[in-house]
Amino acid sequence: MTWNRDELDQLGAAARELLAGFADLPILDKHDDAEQRNVLLEVARRLRDNDPYFHPSYCGQMLKPPHAIARMAYALAMLINPNNHALDGGRASSRMELEAVAAIANMIGWRHSEQASDGHLGHLCGGGTLANFEALWVARERTGGRKVVASLQAHYTHQRLSQVLQLPFESIPVDRHARLDLNALEPLLKAGEVGTVVATLGTTALGAVDPLDELVSLRDRYEFRLHVDAAYGGYFTLVDNLRPETRRAFDALSRADSVVIDPHKHGLQPYGCGCVLFHDPTVAELYLHDSPYTYYTSDELHLGEISLECSRPGAAAVALWATQRLLPLDRGGEFAGGLAAGRQAALQLHDWLNTQERLVPILLPELDLLAWGVRAVAASEASTAARRLFHAAREQHVYLALTEVPRAIAQQAAVVQDWDQPTLTCLRSAVMKPQHLDWLPELTSRLGGLG
Ligand SMILES: *Cc1c(COP(=O)(O)O)cnc(C)c1O
Repeated sequence: MTWNRDELDQLGAAARELLAGFADLPILDKHDDAEQRNVLLEVARRLRDNDPYFHPSYCGQMLKPPHAIARMAYALAMLINPNNHALDGGRASSRMELEAVAAIANMIGWRHSEQASDGHLGHLCGGGTLANFEALWVARERTGGRKVVASLQAHYTHQRLSQVLQLPFESIPVDRHARLDLNALEPLLKAGEVGTVVATLGTTALGAVDPLDELVSLRDRYEFRLHVDAAYGGYFTLVDNLRPETRRAFDALSRADSVVIDPHKHGLQPYGCGCVLFHDPTVAELYLHDSPYTYYTSDELHLGEISLECSRPGAAAVALWATQRLLPLDRGGEFAGGLAAGRQAALQLHDWLNTQERLVPILLPELDLLAWGVRAVAASEASTAARRLFHAAREQHVYLALTEVPRAIAQQAAVVQDWDQPTLTCLRSAVMKPQHLDWLPELTSRLGGLG
C-alpha cells in the first residue's frame, strides 16, 4: 500500500500546527476512545472486502490511489470541515480552490489568474458527471436548446444528462481509431441542427482521443459550441510521449468553450473532485442567484455564486491545492512523469500482447488504456473466453476489467472471423499507476502463465 510509516507523524505535526491557530478556545471533552477504537477496527475488517485498487496488480478500472499529500491534507482539513459554498464557511479553502482551479486552467492554456472573473470561470464539483451536467446546462442556455452530439464511444452520461436537461441528443459513429467520425458529423453541422459538439479527450472504454483540432476548424465554418469531456484524459496534455495526432488534439484544448477534467481520475485525488472550466467568464451570469442565508462576510466572490451545488467539501480543494503545490502541473515535471510512465507501460503491454498467439490488442493505446480480445472463430466464443480469462486472472491476483467493443472497432483487429453478435467482450486495463511500468514483467508473466 502507498503508506509511509511516518505519514501519521507528519499528519500529527500538521494537526498541531493547525490547532495552534485556535489555541485560545476552551478545550472540550473527548469521546470515549475505547468504543471508538473498536468500531474503527470493525471498519478495517469490513474494508478488507475490496480488490487491492492501490496496488499495481490491480489494472482494471480507472482506479488510482490518492497521493499521500492529498490524503493527509484532506484529513487535516477534516479538523475544520470547511464548506466551499461561501467564504463564510471556508475562507482559506475557497481561496485554495480558486488557485487550484486556476492552475488547471493554466495547464490547458487559459490565462493564470487568481480572480475567477479574469479570463476563465471554473470550480470544483462532485465529479465528472456533475461537471458535464453544468457544462451541458450552460450549453443549453447559450445555444437556445439546440441538439447535443457526441461520439458513440463518449461517456453514456452525455445522453442521459441531455435527457435530464430536455436537450435533443444524437450519437455520432466513430472511425477505426474509435474517435468521433468527422465525415459522419459534417452533414449534421451543414444541416444546422447541432448546438453543441462534445469531444472526448480520452474515452472511458478505450482511451481514444477525438480530433479536437479538426473540430475547432469545423467550428470556424459552422457555428456550434465545443465542449470537451477530458474527465479521464485531461492531464495527458502534460506528457511528452503522445502520438502526433493526439498531441494536436490536446494542443487545441484552449480553443474549447468548456472543459471537464476529473482530479479524482488522474489527478491523485480522493473521490468527490471534478472540475468544470468555461472559457467565457460571463457564463457566471447564468449562475446568478440570491442566497438569503449565506454570502455575508465578504464582497469577494463566494464559490456558491458560480456553482450549481451548494455545500461542497473544502477538504477536496485543500487536498488538490496541496497536491499541485508538491507536484505542479508542469510539462515534463514529476506529476507528468507519472502519467507518461503509465502510458509507456500500456504501450509495452500492447507489444507483449502482440507476441501472444491467443491474445489480440484491439487498438494501439492512445493514452494509458487498452483492450484486447481472445482469438476464436466466433465472436460469442471469444467473448466467453475473455470472461473466463478475466476470472482466471483474478486467481493469479491480476485484476482486469471487461468491456464490450462494437464490431466496427474490433473488426480490424481480426480477433474473430464470424460475427455472430454485434459486440465483442474484451479484457480492458487501465495501466494508470506510475508503478505499473516496473510491475509489467510480473504482470505479463502472470498473464502468460494463464495459457
Ligand atoms: C469517468 C468519466 C466521466 C464521469 O465522471 P465521474 O467522475 O465518474 O462522475 C465522464 N466522462 C468521461 C470521459 C469519464 O472518463
